[in-house]
Amino acid sequence: MTDAREPAAAGNPASHPYAARRRMIAEALSGRRLDALLVALSPNLRYLSGFTGSNGYLLLSAERALLFTDPRYLLQARQECLGAAGPSRAFEIRIAKGPLVPAVASAISRFRWRRIGYEPARMTCDAFEALKAKLPARASLTAAGGWIESLRAIKSLAEIDLIRRSVVTNSRAFEQAAARLRPGMKESDLAAEIEYRMRRLGAEKPSFETIVASGRRTALPHAQPTAAQIVPESLVLVDMGSQQDGYCSDMTRMLFLGNPTPQVKRTYRAVLEAQLAAIDAVRPGARTADVDAAARSVLQAHGLEEAFVHSTGHGLGLEIHEPPRIGRRDKTRLAPGMAITIEPGVYLEDFGGIRIEDTVAVTAHGCEILTPTPKELRIL
Ligand code: ZN
Ligand code: ZN
Repeated sequence: MTDAREPAAAGNPASHPYAARRRMIAEALSGRRLDALLVALSPNLRYLSGFTGSNGYLLLSAERALLFTDPRYLLQARQECLGAAGPSRAFEIRIAKGPLVPAVASAISRFRWRRIGYEPARMTCDAFEALKAKLPARASLTAAGGWIESLRAIKSLAEIDLIRRSVVTNSRAFEQAAARLRPGMKESDLAAEIEYRMRRLGAEKPSFETIVASGRRTALPHAQPTAAQIVPESLVLVDMGSQQDGYCSDMTRMLFLGNPTPQVKRTYRAVLEAQLAAIDAVRPGARTADVDAAARSVLQAHGLEEAFVHSTGHGLGLEIHEPPRIGRRDKTRLAPGMAITIEPGVYLEDFGGIRIEDTVAVTAHGCEILTPTPKELRIL
């Protein structure tokens, strides 16, 4: 299969992919019977324009891209969105002094666009109602959900490189923080150490709130770190991700302070076997449900299927959770360029929980495990 994805070219504004991505939308508008698409979600704005501010809308037509934001973000929008060529008819920044919706509505009215696509899952009801009220009578709003997300699901080679960088930063932060783990340390101190380390290593922030759980609390799949001390002879679950240049990483590793019991060793081996089986099933054309089933059937053979209470993984990129989902009922076919996590886990109330998670990229012939951290149970 030919690879039309653009090569890595970090730092060269001329090679920014935003204009090419907007062109894909522009060319597909008429096929969807739309005159314009209104983009409301921040990661989608970033994907299509480079803009990272927290308040913005992007309105795309066949010929124009209008970014609406407020005065706080004028300078930032210029720096992030305009190349050396500066503003042009093809990309304009419009600053609204008040709410953005009236400015969006007046542009729609001025350009006489009639059929406007919007992102139903990404726009507040308030904004939708306000826009509807301000649109001219001839204009209508049509749901166009998931469009940009489906483009985002297939990463370019440059994006995979950015994810790889985020993954490497995350793994290095884990090593540095794990080396400081001592009995008596609080879960929240280890989480703070992890987040401090990732920022020192180049991440902008964690890609989600770092999970550190010890002892029985590991049975909570999304445990918040507490002031509980990490005591000897206990399991520690660390689920952490970095965000670097906008791209997320996600990894779960288990540590044990002391001598693991036979049950810990046995359960760990079962989860690892399930994780390896799922990774083995990752290849172009495979259905995400089959990847999930690969992990689930291993855990079933160990009598642990009831203890696996979540899906096997999820896509990640500009968001920590994005399509495709790797769950029991998800029928998406994997394709080269997808970046996903593989993270089976088992959770038993009177024992604890064990999860192992890597970030994986789907390649032309199979997959590449991006996470470099070894997968053995780390015994301290
Ligand atoms: Zn995770
Ligand atoms: Zn995850």
